[in-house]
Amino acid sequence: MSDIRLHRPGGSFLISATEADMICTPEDFTEEQRMIAATARQFIEREVDPYREEIENQDFDQVVALLRQAGELGLLAHSIPEAYGGLGLDKISKGLVGEIVGRTGGYGVAHSNHTCIATLPITYFGTKAQKEKYLPKLASGEYLGAYCLTEPSSGSDALSAKTTARLNEEGTHYILNGTKLYITNAVFSDTFIVYAKVDGDKFSAFIVERHFPGLSLGPEENKMGIKGSSTRPVIMEDCMVPVENLLGEVGRGHLIALNVLNLGRFNLGSACMGGAKYAMQLAVAYTNERRQFGTLIADFAASKEKVARMATRIYAAESLQYRSAGLLEDALGSLYDSQDFTLIAKRMAEYVLECAICKVYGSETLDQVVDEALQLHGGYGFIKEYKIEQMYRDSRINRIFEGTNEINRLLITNQFFKKAGAGQLPVKEAIKKGTADLQEVYPVDKGPLLRERKAIVSIRRILLALAGLIQQIVGPRLEAEQETAIRFADLVIHLYAAESAVLRAYKAVLHNGADQEALKVMLAASYIDDAVPEVEAIARKLVADIAEGTLRDDYLSLVCKELQRYVPQGSIARNRAIAERINQVQQYIC
Ligand SMILES: Cc1cc2nc3c(=O)[nH]c(=O)nc-3n(C[C@H](O)[C@H](O)[C@H](O)COP(=O)(O)OP(=O)(O)OC[C@H]3O[C@@H](n4cnc5c(N)ncnc54)[C@H](O)[C@@H]3O)c2cc1C
Repeated sequence: MSDIRLHRPGGSFLISATEADMICTPEDFTEEQRMIAATARQFIEREVDPYREEIENQDFDQVVALLRQAGELGLLAHSIPEAYGGLGLDKISKGLVGEIVGRTGGYGVAHSNHTCIATLPITYFGTKAQKEKYLPKLASGEYLGAYCLTEPSSGSDALSAKTTARLNEEGTHYILNGTKLYITNAVFSDTFIVYAKVDGDKFSAFIVERHFPGLSLGPEENKMGIKGSSTRPVIMEDCMVPVENLLGEVGRGHLIALNVLNLGRFNLGSACMGGAKYAMQLAVAYTNERRQFGTLIADFAASKEKVARMATRIYAAESLQYRSAGLLEDALGSLYDSQDFTLIAKRMAEYVLECAICKVYGSETLDQVVDEALQLHGGYGFIKEYKIEQMYRDSRINRIFEGTNEINRLLITNQFFKKAGAGQLPVKEAIKKGTADLQEVYPVDKGPLLRERKAIVSIRRILLALAGLIQQIVGPRLEAEQETAIRFADLVIHLYAAESAVLRAYKAVLHNGADQEALKVMLAASYIDDAVPEVEAIARKLVADIAEGTLRDDYLSLVCKELQRYVPQGSIARNRAIAERINQVQQYIC
């Protein structure tokens, strides 16, 4: 199959504005997407929630029973083609299921690990025979899966793995030797996607079954959180893997390992955003019951500000998550039946940058929200009986796995400059224009959310001007200058989050009118009022760190003058209004 042109190549948002109607938003969900979400919600509320304690106490038989039940309902099958027993659904549906399941912590990790990184390598890179053999069973839950990349001496530096694979003399089996560490779902998995180096240097992927001779498990890790998901070492000692279980080609396993992780990062963003919604729901339910000084905790202005800030952050996370889902669907939606692995790998890699943002933004949103939600519970939040205590512990892993947030930030910056270098995005022209446009008139001058849309223009101009400064001063040393790379990534993340939040509200207002979409307008305004000072602080620090003398002074002045035009709105009345709407329904709405 030949490649078609994607209407928005990955990273495009960095160099030019996007039309609001081009982005996918939750307001666009179809009836079918809403139905799978309703099925997932019902399953979690009726079947999983009642077993919270058993799951937390690592009753893995219960976890397996629930996963099989999920399989019967089709909740493990969204990303498996119909031809192989799946539902072949779009990435928006995948996001919805991920979001709803994500609120359950340990169970959610087990579920998402199975449907995403443990299954997708076969969905996208398996041969017809491998798909026929494994996918129907993975779709129904008869088989459960694990993904084995990390080793004791290789975590972030995953491709330096030491596990080896050697073809036996008869040419019938690969003999695998090595240990994989921290493997989610290990204790109950039937299939393990294992990465090993053929002849010690050709990084390759294999489907290893639990009963293959030579495979064993180490002891269960004693974890801080997500206890309901098993985590164990997977040990291979002369493990015999039939040659037909090589996944993809010898020496090209990195294309599977890293590209599947892109979808894993998108998925993790969904799960974290769903978790954040639930944590806020727990907090508002609690604060609408508990009184101090004769007043409901929910009615204190300080509580309202916390709720408004949680909702604002969740709204931005949700907006960027479904925008990314739409992009991924454009890239991959037509490829379920393709055997063109090069094209699949290319499409999976297209939105590397956006997927990394989903992971970083989602995980940091969840951490912020669970922290404030626990705070609103006061001392009770510290007591195990209250669900928020577990959510606080469960949340912490998300900044670590699927690539730490530091690694993902470095990846974001690296991707931007790589795309620029490879001519995949017209970055050179955009930098020139962005820098020249600083303090020029805005290209947007009418319509709803004008102040917020102008702020997006300013953030993009500043980001592009600083990209030019980085190229000029840091150049090829950027890989070593991680402080600068990380600050630049923060600007990228702010731009994507801010634009996704504002375009969503803008699109909704154009379709439904400002009155009906008042809450979205407030949330978008609130996001921008938080983001602009942060962008200014990051930009000033970045400039001061790399430039000197008049060059530094000129750039600092450009940044300040560009943002001086932005007039912040008073946040008190707006935050109270946002919180009051949420307190009325006692859950996240927008
Ligand atoms: C509960 C749990 C479940 C997991 N599940 C799985 C699974 O199912 N399958 C799987 O394969 N793996 C799994 N992992 C492993 C996980 O993906 C790794 O822990 C993660 O990638 C980080 O690797 P590491 O722990 O070796 O940390 P390290 O790579 O040693 O990193 C330590 C610190 O150094 C920083 N650092 C590392 N390299 C750089 C760099 N180049 N520049 C700047 N900073 C750097 C990191 O950001 C981090 O802060 C799991 C881990 C846990 C804890």
